[in-house]
Amino acid sequence: MNSRANLIFEQQKKHHPAVKKTTALQRIHKLKTLKESIRKHERQIYDALRKDLGKSSFEAAVTEVILINGEIDFAIKNLKSWMHPKRMGKTLSNPFAKNRIYYEPKGVCLILSPWNYPFQLVMAPLISSIAAGNCTIIKPSELSPATSHIIGKIIGSIFCEEEVSCIEGDKDTATQLLALPFDHIFFTGSTSVGKIVMEAAAKNLSSVTLELGGKSPAIIDSTADLRKAAQKIAWGKLVNCGQTCIAPDYVLIHEQNADEFIGLYKDFVQEMFFMGDEKINPSSYGKIVNKFHFNRLKTLVDQAITEGARIDLGGKFDEKAQVINPVVLRQVAPKSAVMTEEIFGPVLPILTYKDLNEAIDIINQKPKPLALYIFSQSKKNIKDILRSTSSGGACVNDVLIHIANPKLPFGGVNHSGLGSSHGFFGFKSFSHERAVVIQSKIDFSSLVYPPYEGKGRIL
Ligand code: NAD
Repeated sequence: MNSRANLIFEQQKKHHPAVKKTTALQRIHKLKTLKESIRKHERQIYDALRKDLGKSSFEAAVTEVILINGEIDFAIKNLKSWMHPKRMGKTLSNPFAKNRIYYEPKGVCLILSPWNYPFQLVMAPLISSIAAGNCTIIKPSELSPATSHIIGKIIGSIFCEEEVSCIEGDKDTATQLLALPFDHIFFTGSTSVGKIVMEAAAKNLSSVTLELGGKSPAIIDSTADLRKAAQKIAWGKLVNCGQTCIAPDYVLIHEQNADEFIGLYKDFVQEMFFMGDEKINPSSYGKIVNKFHFNRLKTLVDQAITEGARIDLGGKFDEKAQVINPVVLRQVAPKSAVMTEEIFGPVLPILTYKDLNEAIDIINQKPKPLALYIFSQSKKNIKDILRSTSSGGACVNDVLIHIANPKLPFGGVNHSGLGSSHGFFGFKSFSHERAVVIQSKIDFSSLVYPPYEGKGRIL
């Protein structure tokens, strides 16, 4: 057992009663301090993200730091009302009592996070945990060590370990932490590790939020604006080199539009990510996180080609720089690994359909995805697709943007996740909703107390 993890956990358990009683103003002060520390370390955060993932400062600002500043501001603005006990309706049998939901901090919470947006995916749940009045241990990903390190520095500069602590380490550290009886575990990562986390949590009956992955489809119907679809899918697929949990994983397009869409997709790839003849523009396109994932993606593409797929764009793999040029695959076999596993890289399989129901069937044969994207100008088709499928979130005629609105819950469903994050939904994940009834002086409860003889007529 990692004695440091054990010690910090015990210290946090002891310290939590004091944190539990903090007011909205005290928690807001902590959030402001966190924002200020992020501001002070901003340059170091960008350097770390460039080192870990080759992200440009602009992309890192837009997809990590600005999102987090927005999340902090939103919590600061709304925390008082989130914490306020919520009035609930009365019952006929108890008409004078007050009924309330109190948002009680869960206690000592664990946040385990992945490497792909390594700053944002630690900070967003941490903001919710602080807002909800918890003590928190964070374990960032070992695959983005520079960012994990700067997160540790930010946290260490403003919090005592009894309240918020960052423990760096790999899956062994995570396993040791998961053995502890946390009050809540917030995990962001793969579906397979999500199952391990839930199994470990079950031993202590810790509640869990699981933010997982999956294959998020983009359906483009025959009425869609193909230019817009191509531009948005190229950006959504290739930002962070496809290493985005809600990136469009594959495209389902009406067969009559496939050629035109692919032509437009290539044009937008050229415009946004290349400097000229398939030469990557390093200011807009990063790298694959490590050799393991680079080789995994190369194998996925090679296997798909062996199984009959045609490569329509890309095929350039620079092993030394860990850069894979955007790939488009056509005629992919449905059982090919590229269609059964989450791709998590810049590889886009394009499948065609004749009838919209075929596309819906393909989606429904797979586990429920984290996101679903619909490109259509037909209200009927949009309604039909939304009604016949399920996914964590969805966008119509756009991609990814649902993650950026803290007023919406962000999360998956079944294999793509359990529970949600962001704004009030994140606050709620880190809170216990405690039902409290405050009885009135005028109280008829005793009418149903024994002895029961002669009481039948009150029913
Ligand atoms: P991962 O599941 O391999 O790792 C996530 C965290 O779990 C890391 O901190 C890691 O150290 C730890 N871990 C790894 N193996 C473990 C084990 N056997 N036991 C205990 N802990 C273990 O995920 P990843 O590769 O870092 O991230 C990519 C995955 O995360 C993708 O599937 C992606 O879709 C998903 N993801 C989901 C969201 C979301 O919000 N839903 C966001 C980003 C990434």
